[in-house]
Amino acid sequence: LARPGVQKLSPYVPGKPVEELAREFGLRPQDIVKLASNENPLGPSPAVREAIAAALPELTRYPDGNGFALKQALAAKSGVNTAGITLGNGSNDILELVARAFVGPEHEVVFSDHAFAVYPIVTQAVGAKAVSVPAKDWGHDLDAMAAAITPSTRVVFIANPNNPTGTWIERDALEAFLDRVPENVIVVLDEAYTEYVETDDVPNGVDYLGRYSNLLVSRTFSKAYGLAALRVGYGLSHPAIADALNRVRQPFNVNSLALAAALAALEDEAYLIESRRINRIGMQQLEEGCAALGLSWIPSRGNFLAIDLGREAAPVFQGLLREGVIVRPVANYGMSNYLRVTVGLPAENQRFLDALKQVLARV
Ligand code: PMP
Repeated sequence: LARPGVQKLSPYVPGKPVEELAREFGLRPQDIVKLASNENPLGPSPAVREAIAAALPELTRYPDGNGFALKQALAAKSGVNTAGITLGNGSNDILELVARAFVGPEHEVVFSDHAFAVYPIVTQAVGAKAVSVPAKDWGHDLDAMAAAITPSTRVVFIANPNNPTGTWIERDALEAFLDRVPENVIVVLDEAYTEYVETDDVPNGVDYLGRYSNLLVSRTFSKAYGLAALRVGYGLSHPAIADALNRVRQPFNVNSLALAAALAALEDEAYLIESRRINRIGMQQLEEGCAALGLSWIPSRGNFLAIDLGREAAPVFQGLLREGVIVRPVANYGMSNYLRVTVGLPAENQRFLDALKQVLARV
């Protein structure tokens, strides 16, 4: 009975939960390493634990539906006025709000092959036509994406850096693209991994908000801020876009514990610095380990690496599961020879590399 667009869409496949693998193979959860969902391996910041404890007595009350305190803090940090901020139940919520507020069955939505799996889902859920543009060197081909825009196009999704490839778009390319997109087409610049970027060749989308009123930058607390379980993300845009998103938003889409935690996380700069450091050394460890195994990878600016196994990755993924190591197969992204592995703590990365070596020798 579901609408045709809904029937056709492939459901999102999350990383396998640790408990599920433990049950399946009779392993102890503490012996399992999960590097499958680009989560922060440090665990939450102590400031976040305190903020959640302090918020517990208010559980019977509805959250602040406008997220006043968090928006104030985000405005102070980003320089974007609170009227241009939309809070979401994870940044996935922001992506969905964009589709619900701006896209109908008569419209098209453009994104890249090998881009984040939620773009086609939110597009097809509103009955619109998903236009997936072939990638260039695994990254967004912005020229081809601009050329794919028609009078029916309402939204273009781009991710910088992109998941699952880790590829990034540089300043000049982004600017040239934004210049080409008609004003009535919304560009969603998904910056879920922006806090991990340590080089200055990757632009900060916020710098362009003043110039392009059709731009929305989406961000999340799920990755570098380490709050994936709480589901908090946000959009930064011209107030007119935020106004439309807030009209279709569920009244209390971000819960009180999440609001309190996000506020505390935003203030804990030391945690973010440590998260970047762990990511930097872990990325190098994974790259060196892959090189030692004779494997190549797609250079990444995120907290994950797409590794080319040079063969079908599915049996290797299964073999790793048996060793208690959960990574992410990306065949559903059209990358059946690749595994995406999240950068973990040094010991976790080593567990993965050791298991990978064993499994590659066996299967
Ligand atoms: N965008 C990209 C590119 C992502 O990789 C993810 C997480 N996998 C998200 C958005 C959504 O994350 P969340 O809903 O947890 O903010």
